[in-house]
This record gives sequence, structure tokens and C-alpha cells, in this order.
Amino acid sequence: MLRRARSSLRHFLLERKSSTGYSSCFSESKMSRPVQSQRLEGIDKNIWVEFVKLAATYSTVNLGQGFPDFPPPAFLKEALVTALSGENSMLHQYTRAFGHPPLVKVLAQFFGKLLGQDLDPMTNVMVTVGAYQALFCCFQAFVDEGDEVIIIEPFFDCYEPMVTMAGGTPVFVPLRPKAPENGKMMSSADWKLDSAELASKFNERTKAIVLNSPNNPLGKVFSREELGLIADLCVKHDVLCISDEVYEWLVYDGKQHIRIASLPGMWDRTVIIGSAGKTFSATGWKVGWTVGPNRLLQHIRTVHQNSVYHCATAAQEAVAQGFQRELMLYGKPDSYFVQLPKELQKKRDQLVQSLDAAGMKPIIPEGTYFLLADISNFKSDVPDVPNSDEPYDSRFAKWMVKNKGLAAIPLSAFYCGAHKNNYSHFIRFCFAKEEATLKAANDILQKWKQEKTSS
Ligand code: PMP
Ligand code: GLN
Repeated sequence: MLRRARSSLRHFLLERKSSTGYSSCFSESKMSRPVQSQRLEGIDKNIWVEFVKLAATYSTVNLGQGFPDFPPPAFLKEALVTALSGENSMLHQYTRAFGHPPLVKVLAQFFGKLLGQDLDPMTNVMVTVGAYQALFCCFQAFVDEGDEVIIIEPFFDCYEPMVTMAGGTPVFVPLRPKAPENGKMMSSADWKLDSAELASKFNERTKAIVLNSPNNPLGKVFSREELGLIADLCVKHDVLCISDEVYEWLVYDGKQHIRIASLPGMWDRTVIIGSAGKTFSATGWKVGWTVGPNRLLQHIRTVHQNSVYHCATAAQEAVAQGFQRELMLYGKPDSYFVQLPKELQKKRDQLVQSLDAAGMKPIIPEGTYFLLADISNFKSDVPDVPNSDEPYDSRFAKWMVKNKGLAAIPLSAFYCGAHKNNYSHFIRFCFAKEEATLKAANDILQKWKQEKTSS
């Protein structure tokens, strides 16, 4: 039956080819109705797609997209090798939809301890394909047409399109910089929310606020006082908090990462999002999680079971082993969560020094593996184009990768369309790199400075 149908189709196509040719046969059947859903209107461009390609084409030193160029810890790699080649062949098969049992169990133990909550691994934790999918699930689960979601600028770029795809309206509130006194270098702590301005964004349509501390791209670690302000407004207006804490272990200078869910009234209304990519320096594994009350997580599970269903079993098994180790070594000098920020702080300081010496003024980050640098002194290399559609920093970053081989990300990518020109003289560098990579970046920067002073 099937064979007969195939041969008559072939016969039909050959006949068409001999009379009209293939191309017209196919062009006649082209669709003419619009295919793109309205949800996708205006979100087809993506900074990572664009700059990853530019970096691959032109860069010799890539400090753009955020990923370490050093390996994950040996214990994590070994755990994955064992998962893949060990006795338990079931680790190649599907596992539980909402998280591989060993992983959700250890995450519940670990975060239960940090939050002072008794967490049920089956209902208070869900594993996702990276923090990206956790974010997507949250917006799909909680946001309806007409709901407003408050986003603090600068923000990790995907929050805005994810809110609009869910039918919501993003409402932006900026962190405002205040120049430090007596010529000191600016710190990410100098960027603050205005409390009255933040309060003015909450109303009866506000469904959620997205908090990202430590913040990408600025590196700001929100203080207890700032978190208290946000928490009070959430409680007052009965608003959810989507707390993106993927850089929770990457804090410097003795600063402490405070979990907003631990503040009064917040556990019940907060979803915490984490990432094994950032936690264990393995961004390509794409293992993430959500932690929160079942009242919220049950709806995230509904989105997950109807979209992704579950994440790679072997990677989840290895991350579970990694957390087991960290649970045992918690707070001890051998803990990876103690060692990684120490190493990264040195790398941060190395890049700060290079940028400062070159005249590209850095803003010292309190956390994450990013820092912003002011490109104002380099304007003579990339002249302003009045009334250009493209923000200055974007043209600068493209020029820099093409002409200097150094890749970075323009800060305007972390602002909404209307505010892209507000702070367009900064670029973001990632310092989670090998010593040799940071040295190569320094060589480019110092040579560039020399050329400028001798010309
Ligand atoms: N949130 C923030 C603030 C990020 O910087 C990133 C990028 N790592 C993500 C979420 C997505 O994380 P993942 O790679 O685990 O999907
Ligand atoms: N979070 C990483 C960054 O900010 C990577 C983002 C991405 O590749 N989409 O660079």
C-alpha cells in the first residue's frame, strides 16, 4: 500500500519535473499566510547569537559570552565519566520528570540547610535544562495577559522577551550610579535603586518582580537593606519574586550573598533559580533548578511536563555527586564553593588592573564573573555617529572585536529598547578565564593604549 503510494508520488513528481521543472512544482505549493506567531514580534534578534558569531569569526581573546575557559573541578568530571561508563546503564535512560531522585534529594538537603527550611525533594525542588528553562517555566506558569512584571535594569537580557512571550508587560526600574568620592574607582555597590521610584512601579497589575543578585552584567550583590525594601513591597502588594541566583557562590571581598526567600514573608512567594553551569564551571551541561514552596512549584511542574519533560540523566547524576561532596565539605577550605570565588577574585583584580592601566575605567564587581568598563577614553577610535539606530557601545564592541581581536558585550544589550542609550559607554568583560587568556587581553589593551599615546 505504502510502496504503491510512494511510487505513484515519484511518478507524479517526475512527470511534473519533465513538464514544469521541480522548482515551479514546489513554488506553486508555497504557503502565503503569515506563519510567525504574534508572540515572536520584535524578539527575533539575540545578543548572544550575534556576539558569539562575531567572537568566533574575529576574536583572538574572547571575554564576551560568560563561560569559564578553565575546566570544571576533577571530582565533577570524574562523576560524569562514572555515570556514563559505570555499571548503572539506567543512567542512559529517562529518569523522573521533575528531577533525578539523587539530585533533588541532595538539593533539598543543601538548600534546606541554607534557607533554614525543611524541604521536600519531590515538591520543593525541580530540575530544569539550565537556569534558562527555569526562568521560562516561571513566566509561563505565573504570567497572564495584562500582568506586569518588574525588571531591574541592567538585567539579564532574556527576562524581557520571556515576559512578553507569556503575554505580560515588563516594567523597568533602573539601578542608578552615583560617582564615588575622591576619585576612587567605582564599585557595583555605587549602583542603587531609588526606593520611591521602585515603590512607584508596584500596582494592582504587578504579578512578579525579577531579582538577580549577584547581578549580571554589573556584578552587584544586593545588600540586606536593599533586599528588605524589595521584600516589603512584595509583601505589601502580594507580588511574587523570581529570584535568579545563578551566581550565588561568586561573591568577593568577604561579601555575603543573602537569599531573599529567607526574609520575613518571602518564602511563600519566592522561586529561587540556580545553575550547575555557574556553580561548577560547566555551562555546557545545562543543568539548573528551581527551589520554592509547592504552591508555586506545582505550576512550574505543569509547564515542564508539557514542554521539556526532563533533563539529561547522566548530567543530573554527576551534579548530584558534586553537591554530595559540597554538602560534606560545606564551609571548609577544600569546598569548591569556597575555592572558586577566591580564584575568581584574583582574576577580577587582574582584569581590573589591566583595564585601569589602559584607561578603560572598570567598575569593580562585588560578585559574578563579569565587570563593566567605561569606554569614553577610547571614543577617538570609534567616532560617534549622530542619530544612529545602533547604541554607541554596540558599534564599539563590534569594532573592537574586528580590529583588536578582543570580544566583549555592550551594556546596552542589558537594557530595554527605550533605555538602550541611557548607559551606552560601557562594555562587559567576563574574567572567568585562564591566566594566559587574561594576559593576552592585557597585551591587547596595553598595546592599544601605547598606539593611542604615540599617535
Ligand atoms: N540567569 C543569569 C543571570 C545568567 O547570567 C544566565 C547565564 N548563565 C542564566 C540565567 C542562564 O543560565 P544557564 O546557563 O544555567 O541556563
Ligand atoms: N549567562 C551568560 C552571559 O551572560 C551566557 C548567556 C547566553 O549564552 N545566552 O554571558
